[in-house]
Amino acid sequence: MTAPKILTPGPTDINTKTLKALSEPQTNPDIDLSFYELYKNVCGKLQRLLNTQNDVLIMAGEGILGLEAACCSLTEEGDRVLVIDNGIFGAGFADFVSLYGGTPVTFKSGYEKEVDIDSLKKFLENDHNFKYATVVHCETPSGILNPVDKICPLLKSYGIMTVVDSVSATGGDEIKVDRWKIDIALGASQKALSAPVGLTYLSISADAKAAIDSRKTPVKGFYLNLVSFKNWYENKWFPYTMPIHLINALDTALDVLFSDDYINRHKIIAEAVRAAVKSAGLKIYAQKGFSNTVTAMIIPEGADFKTIQKYILDNYNILIGSSIGYLENKVIRLGHMGENATKENMYILLKALTEALKAEGVCLKCDLHTEFLKEYEKNE
Ligand SMILES: *Cc1c(COP(=O)(O)O)cnc(C)c1O
Repeated sequence: MTAPKILTPGPTDINTKTLKALSEPQTNPDIDLSFYELYKNVCGKLQRLLNTQNDVLIMAGEGILGLEAACCSLTEEGDRVLVIDNGIFGAGFADFVSLYGGTPVTFKSGYEKEVDIDSLKKFLENDHNFKYATVVHCETPSGILNPVDKICPLLKSYGIMTVVDSVSATGGDEIKVDRWKIDIALGASQKALSAPVGLTYLSISADAKAAIDSRKTPVKGFYLNLVSFKNWYENKWFPYTMPIHLINALDTALDVLFSDDYINRHKIIAEAVRAAVKSAGLKIYAQKGFSNTVTAMIIPEGADFKTIQKYILDNYNILIGSSIGYLENKVIRLGHMGENATKENMYILLKALTEALKAEGVCLKCDLHTEFLKEYEKNE
């Protein structure tokens, strides 16, 4: 059997050009100095992606490594850290903060919508003694996009640094690291960039660097320590052997992304998906703050996720996912990020879903796929 089409919110489909780059013969990245030029060049492309002049690092490891590396490098014993929590990834940051001796203080303004700026403003008026704050750009489990453009400058006005997990947003939604004053923005290779799993990247501001450099205690980690990378280009030295195949693939994946008006492509697809879901009489989990990369649709009463998933896999060879934590088997996530975000993919996915829902006895006001196409063609 051929591998199923993965229309999940990451890992995503990999373009054949990127796959080819992955399979090309490679040099020894420790010894061959040309590798340092490749790494530098890819960091330059990531700066373009993130809209920043800040230094960028690529680390070997899945996206979670970036979240932990940021917290590990910034946190010292007793530091108060504001954890902005409107979903599973947001809440998870508290564990990383605690693990490195920090004291997480959680801010919540509801799980069904984007972070509420007015509530955050009020909260900060009373309490703003934080070294840094953690923010999730797109809460992938719920499909909610947070207004990072407002959150980060607000925190900066109190001198609070920000760590932004943009793993599932960057490449599909706008990110402007310098304009939004983000201290550490981090992402991963396998979501909207559609490169293989295994890399995380971070942009690090001058303030973040100064905070790490002026720590009173050493960073409790080596692999996770962002300082380990200091002067890598001048010294032609990395703290560990870099996965050259993955970096080469990421290089090509970024070229593929840049060859296209990628934010607009994601936006048009996402809007058409949401419109189709609503027209069919189904519900989207998010009430406010819609991501361009993933839509979480509430599973209607009486329908069962596992049955729907099996129907779509058996009849269309498409793999779909539900969500995690409190949303497991409550929502279906329509992954429209990276290479997955095409008219053809969403059409076939929604056709399969329409059939699967009807087989489950769900009454739809219209077919999802035909409605999607109508909406898509309005904006194309
Ligand atoms: C995918 C993702 C990560 C990486 O986590 P995994 O569970 O290993 O996939 C981190 N943050 C966000 C918001 C993500 O979507």
